[in-house]
Amino acid sequence: MATKRDYYEVLGVKRDASSEELKKAYRQLAKKYHPDLNKDDPGAAEKFKEVAEAYEVLSDSQKRAAYDRFGHDAFDPTKGAGGFGGFGGFDFDFDNMGGGFGDIFDLLFGTAGGARQRRTGPQPGADLEMKVEISFEDAVFGTEKDLDLTRIEKCDTCNGSGAEPGSKVKTCPTCRGTGQVRNVQSTPFGRFETVRTCSHCQGAGKVVEKPCKACRGTGKMRKKRTISVRIPAGIDTGSRLRIQGEGEEGLRGGPPGDLYITVVVKPHKHFQREGFNLITQLDIDFVQAALGAEIDIPLLGGAEYSLKVPEGTQPGDILLAKGKGIPYLNSHRTGDLKVVVNVTIPKKLTKRQRELLENFHEQQDVNEEEDHKNNKEDKDNKKGLFDRLKDAMA
Ligand SMILES: [Zn+2]
Ligand SMILES: [Zn+2]
Repeated sequence: MATKRDYYEVLGVKRDASSEELKKAYRQLAKKYHPDLNKDDPGAAEKFKEVAEAYEVLSDSQKRAAYDRFGHDAFDPTKGAGGFGGFGGFDFDFDNMGGGFGDIFDLLFGTAGGARQRRTGPQPGADLEMKVEISFEDAVFGTEKDLDLTRIEKCDTCNGSGAEPGSKVKTCPTCRGTGQVRNVQSTPFGRFETVRTCSHCQGAGKVVEKPCKACRGTGKMRKKRTISVRIPAGIDTGSRLRIQGEGEEGLRGGPPGDLYITVVVKPHKHFQREGFNLITQLDIDFVQAALGAEIDIPLLGGAEYSLKVPEGTQPGDILLAKGKGIPYLNSHRTGDLKVVVNVTIPKKLTKRQRELLENFHEQQDVNEEEDHKNNKEDKDNKKGLFDRLKDAMA
């Protein structure tokens, strides 16, 4: 058998795809490869199974988490997958998959108002989405952020049962406790038995005698929460973080949904970002540019860095501070800091400065005339003049 393809690749989605994105990709592919719609293509059934299997795993947040961590090994009983014993025995058997083709039909053609067969089982909670604005520094160095959110959680009073404490819970008379109502339907592909969720008990199979007053029998409540989220170093605007299990409460004991955070990074006064490099500007005077200098520049985050400006630096030259940029996500590499040099020209000169510059100018004319001689004495003379000028500028 060929090597198993990555589930995300099979569905053609990103690793941080939301459950909605997964569902959409699955619907499209299931339609494309459904065996009944591809009778001439013997390969379609295999593809269809591959797609169904990928969705089966990725749509279940616990299985997805196990897969994210261990890959296909998570479901291979021979591998043991780092103690994930509970999933070690997970064996995907398409033909015996609860609902089988019926489930797919339900999804494709939306029979019976979209009621799906396995509604009676535990249902995962909805995913939550939020946007978080962080400072430029926090994006570079990473941070811990407290987020306020309102989400649906279990009712404290009845612990999610929906029954007033002390009251009885009885078997639903409509479905006799099964949570389902059976129904036979005709579709373009033949007669199908569909199973709808019992509307009386919402599939729970049980009804309460006295509904809980706090939650009006729903077992759920909206709650304000503050959760602490770690923002990794090196993140950029548009990055999406998935915080597992911080979404809304699941139904009938199902796992909670996930929280997705889209990051927006505020601009910085002195630094800009270019991939993992930082860019800043440095003003130096024309004497420093000509003679070279060592200048302490502030780094992002407050530290200082001694930057060597070489002799003869030109306006617009870019000097590099290696490794003083942004750390790569999930790596030990760090980008560089690019310092764009701006050479400032004094707007006012003292009398002494003017004399020295005029003197320098004359000297430059001499330099040009005697350039071919390139005599050392002349060079020393020029340097001496510049040093005097530097003292005068300070
Ligand atoms: Zn309650
Ligand atoms: Zn019922």
